[in-house]
Amino acid sequence: MENKLDLLPLELPGYKLERPMLIAGPCSAETEEQVLTTAKQLAAQGVKIFRSGIWKPRTRPGAFEGVGTVGLPWLKKVKEETGMFISIEVATAHHVYEALKFGVDMLWVGARTTANPFAVQEVADALAGVDIPVLVKNPVNPDLELWIGAMERINQAGIKRLGAIHRGFSTYDKTKYRNNPEWQIPIELRRRIPNLPIITDPSHISGKSEMIAEVSQEAMDLNFDGLIIESHMCPEKAWSDASQQVTPDHLKLIMDDLVVRQSAI
Ligand code: PEP
Ligand code: MN
Repeated sequence: MENKLDLLPLELPGYKLERPMLIAGPCSAETEEQVLTTAKQLAAQGVKIFRSGIWKPRTRPGAFEGVGTVGLPWLKKVKEETGMFISIEVATAHHVYEALKFGVDMLWVGARTTANPFAVQEVADALAGVDIPVLVKNPVNPDLELWIGAMERINQAGIKRLGAIHRGFSTYDKTKYRNNPEWQIPIELRRRIPNLPIITDPSHISGKSEMIAEVSQEAMDLNFDGLIIESHMCPEKAWSDASQQVTPDHLKLIMDDLVVRQSAI
């Protein structure tokens, strides 16, 4: 099958992305104070793109499923007060409309959504005629075609500023990772679509804060383009993914230690 995507550089207004492109912020928006405090600490470290989950796809019912739309004004405030760009996960047409209403700058499709072509198509249809950068996480299962197919659906809706997020793959085996990186899959994605930016998510790959640096370095050694890292002002108190989040200070140490050979996105 042809592997053509009609792409434009993954840029944001007034901001040309350098390598590594860094997206950081908490797994979930919890309270206005947690969002604003974390965001200000990250902005002080030079982070330009803020992430935060508003609707959280949880494996089992009963866990914290995100604050929902009430959190979007908090993110708008982050944008106004820090100048950072805002990015969130969208999984339904409703999420897309709400995100656009509140001036979200960048969207991403989560791993569970990428695994479902009906859901991806719904998101794609909601994006028709909209010009916003979209990142597509790999599906939870190690299926490169499903990942590419999701990006094709979004691209065919007219989204040209597109990127892939490599967040590792579910496995029933016990490994040192939360989600097995299977590096050969994003490497094959790069071979097939060389101009598609690949952003690694060391947080969801490793599942633990101590391993973020190692996985980030592997991604840079493979010449991938960016990192999306979960950062919370107080990781041990996080309402989701507590074990894998790092403080903004810890994030700075990780980024300062990273060895990055320069090559353009
Ligand atoms: C997240 O980014 O917090 C998330 C839910 O990730 P994933 O879709 O990779 O599981
Ligand atoms: Mn998370």
